[in-house]
Amino acid sequence: MNFRSRRWSLHEDQAEAQIREFRVSSIKRVLVTGGAGFLGSHLCDRLVADGHDVICLDNFFTSQKSNVAHLLSRPNFELVRHDVTIPIWLEVDQIYNLACPAAPGHYQYNPIKTMKTSVMGAINMLGMALRCRARILQASTSEVYGDPEVHPQTESYRGCVNPLGPRACYDEGKRAAESLFMDYHRMNGVDVRIVRIFNTYGPRMHPFDGRVVSNFIRQALSGEDITIYGEGSQTRSFCYCDDLVEGLIRMMNGPGDFIGPVNLGNPDEFTILELASLTIELTGARSQLVREPLPADDPTRRQPDISLAKQKLDWRPTVPLREGLARTIDWLRSVDISTYRPPTPNY
Ligand code: NAD
Ligand code: UDP
Repeated sequence: MNFRSRRWSLHEDQAEAQIREFRVSSIKRVLVTGGAGFLGSHLCDRLVADGHDVICLDNFFTSQKSNVAHLLSRPNFELVRHDVTIPIWLEVDQIYNLACPAAPGHYQYNPIKTMKTSVMGAINMLGMALRCRARILQASTSEVYGDPEVHPQTESYRGCVNPLGPRACYDEGKRAAESLFMDYHRMNGVDVRIVRIFNTYGPRMHPFDGRVVSNFIRQALSGEDITIYGEGSQTRSFCYCDDLVEGLIRMMNGPGDFIGPVNLGNPDEFTILELASLTIELTGARSQLVREPLPADDPTRRQPDISLAKQKLDWRPTVPLREGLARTIDWLRSVDISTYRPPTPNY
């Protein structure tokens, strides 16, 4: 090899080393708590597809392995059965903290455990983030606004939550977790991110979780009556899961000084009666609507103001309800719902 070609090969070696270094630094070790759940499993799909080294941690309280079974053979995916209320030692670069029952029927099943999951889970994961210098994102919720007097809800609104009611274990647990995130950030410099997720739906929702989208589709497909709680005039704004996952990823990897909280949700607002008639239309069901009592503290209206997410993350939802609902209906038609368990009795 003459001098000239040796110099060229040295340059090539350096360039290759730089590319390797870039790849190594852009591929992260990512922990997703609650990763086998509805949203967590879609997030794991995306992170694995993007080449990250993903650890999915879950105690399977409201989920089952089938949500992530297709990922088990992937070399960059690991599944750990663990409860976030108990400390665990892992080395990671990013943590998405999603572990928490999310459906009212699930989080009210054992309200004390729900509060422990939010609070002790946050402390354990923030401790890990502090030790590993990892960035950590908290999956908070529109429930921090309670039954809101401000409409649509902006991040500056402080909410109207009943601390004594049956939803408080979840709402106050999530509010306490937000406080912990801010305190670890201010006291210890932990690199935090907080997102407030509004009603999100899609394939892999637990068919018996009691949430309105899963209930209505399951009832319509099995020819049962569709249960309208109260008058059905209460509103929700429904975001499709793929849009939400994109928002989570943008927030985790977004500008360093933007820690949130930021609303993530679809601002298109529907009454529960409108959702029922769209479900009947798309499934072709002959179900009748039946009235049931409105649960205590059920929020009357909910719609996210997503100006901040648009401005800071250039994020907005792209899947309209009609399209997302059709995809969710197709999925629920394709699964054997007898394989889905109710919450673990001794949880
Ligand atoms: P989900 O119930 O499908 O997922 C929650 C996951 O957390 C499940 O896999 C469950 O087994 C796991 N989990 C619960 N307690 C745990 C514990 N102590 N230790 C380890 N794992 C535990 O619900 P989801 O809709 O996917 O919600 C995911 C996250 O997003 C939750 O934190 C929820 O509060 C938040 N969120 C969701 C919505 C929504 O509309 N889907 C709205 C607002 C906030
Ligand atoms: N809801 C309903 N019928 C059902 C399930 C829910 O009318 O079978 C209503 C519920 O009272 C609430 C709305 O739908 O007003 C959304 O309920 P969900 O449990 O999905 O979520 P959240 O109340 O936490 O937004």
